[in-house]
Amino acid sequence: MPAFDLIVLGAGPAGSTAAFVAASKGLSVALVDKAKFPRDKLCGGGFTGRSTKYFRDAFGQDAPDVPMRRFHRVSFHAFGQKLGTYDDIPPLDLLMRTDLDAALVQLAKDAGAACYLGTAPQVQSLDAPCVRVGAQTLTAPILIAADGANSQTAKALFGDAFDRDQIGFALELEYPGNHPDAELRIDFGAADWGYGWHFPKQGSITVGVGGVMRRNPDMKAHMARYMDDLGLKTGAKVKGQFLPFGGFRAMPGKGRVLLAGDAAGLVDPITGEGIAFAIRSGHMAANAVIEAAHEPDRALRLYKHALRPIHRAIRQARMIRPILFLPQFQATFINRFRASRTLRREYLYLLAGEREYGEITLALLGRLPSYFLPRSRQKAAS
Ligand SMILES: Cc1cc2nc3c(=O)[nH]c(=O)nc-3n(C[C@H](O)[C@H](O)[C@H](O)COP(=O)(O)OP(=O)(O)OC[C@H]3O[C@@H](n4cnc5c(N)ncnc54)[C@H](O)[C@@H]3O)c2cc1C
Repeated sequence: MPAFDLIVLGAGPAGSTAAFVAASKGLSVALVDKAKFPRDKLCGGGFTGRSTKYFRDAFGQDAPDVPMRRFHRVSFHAFGQKLGTYDDIPPLDLLMRTDLDAALVQLAKDAGAACYLGTAPQVQSLDAPCVRVGAQTLTAPILIAADGANSQTAKALFGDAFDRDQIGFALELEYPGNHPDAELRIDFGAADWGYGWHFPKQGSITVGVGGVMRRNPDMKAHMARYMDDLGLKTGAKVKGQFLPFGGFRAMPGKGRVLLAGDAAGLVDPITGEGIAFAIRSGHMAANAVIEAAHEPDRALRLYKHALRPIHRAIRQARMIRPILFLPQFQATFINRFRASRTLRREYLYLLAGEREYGEITLALLGRLPSYFLPRSRQKAAS
């Protein structure tokens, strides 16, 4: 019965980062995933400046060693109207998750993590973590669960993997072929309380729509309309997946189980970006386990504290989100985005992961009256 210092369940960006960080610090780590790597993961593969920064912090390398396509220009559309093509954005890298996730697993393995991949594990206990993989039974004083948006661990701990009122849902397909001139394009409102993306890679364009699930009972219709708008026709298979969209878990675990990445609901509820927070939370969870090595019951408290900046960012994004998505604000948003270079720049920098919500929330709230009140009422109010 192999006994470890730490079991990590799920080897996406959150789990592999946690396993890498803990193993690099000398902990014995079991990294367990039902999938065999390389494996696919439904994702636009947008790897922002924020992802790069968090990757560098965790792995001590500049960038993952995988093929990427870099864009300095984005074409931006909202609610069926073209807003413009902007080339004053920081670079945005696009990659395939098949490559990224396999590379991160390899880094964890090289750091010394024992990998149990390709066999569905059975969790026998979460109180005193014990996981069965095939004929082997793994034990550890603590477990990091990074088993994705539909986390069976979160379900076992809290009764549900996610809050159905808040969860997002996305559809995506790979449009085949090399398209060297294809533009990076984002369409706000391609789904209700969500957006569409057209992300060219090497060998395909990833096209998708996603948004708050309860506001989009017919996501397939949004996807079909978006493909029509883009003028794309393909028989490629459309796949769907849940995406946390603002409903993070304020208590990211229970007892000796820490939830990381999508399992803890850590996705930006405006842009849908989740790789950065997955890497960061995996890093923070591993740090908490290392710090609480002699007192595993302290790890959850330490981890919750370390996640505060991410939780704050998600709360701030949730506060701003109605300005972007409420139907009655759409015309104003489009006008202001076109007219205000500052607003546009702030938004594009946010999208590229070069701005934090804290930096723009106050500025935006200060400007709200000028965005939404007619000029005559602004004068009267001042
Ligand atoms: C359509 C779509 C597009 C997206 N586009 C972007 C984007 O462009 N940029 C961005 O930053 N984010 C994007 N995201 C979000 C991003 O994909 C996630 O936030 C990110 O993958 C979270 O990483 P994770 O490690 O928490 O989970 P995952 O990457 O989902 O990894 C979870 C792992 O757990 C394993 N697992 C699941 N259940 C079990 C089990 N019972 N036992 C063992 N293993 C298990 C799975 O096999 C998987 O390998 C997108 C999401 C979707 C759905």
